[in-house]
Amino acid sequence: MGMSNDTVKKLEAERQILLEELATLRDMLHGSLVERYTICSRPQCKCHSGQRHGPVRCLVVNRNGKQRQKYIPNGKLTDAKAGLEQYARLQKIVDRITDINLQLFKENKDA
Ligand SMILES: [Zn+2]
Repeated sequence: MGMSNDTVKKLEAERQILLEELATLRDMLHGSLVERYTICSRPQCKCHSGQRHGPVRCLVVNRNGKQRQKYIPNGKLTDAKAGLEQYARLQKIVDRITDINLQLFKENKDA
């Protein structure tokens, strides 16, 4: 009593399209964009009396339990946001492929 052959074919076709979309997400970035306001080294600068420089954008990246901050130039802010969106799409695709593969397991179990 498994899925019909048609259902299996449909799921496999959907999975194939998602796998091809994955290959297009080449600019993905996994991290969080944060804004920093900084103090410079010039002693007389107004940043020392409250008016800090900024915002400066950084991408916070976690790697092996450590957090790193990578400076994002203003000219790359749009690219960075697009990269984060690509990662969000990646996660959605992984979730959908997981659902598909679990459904296909069910089919195989009955065989
Ligand atoms: Zn300053």
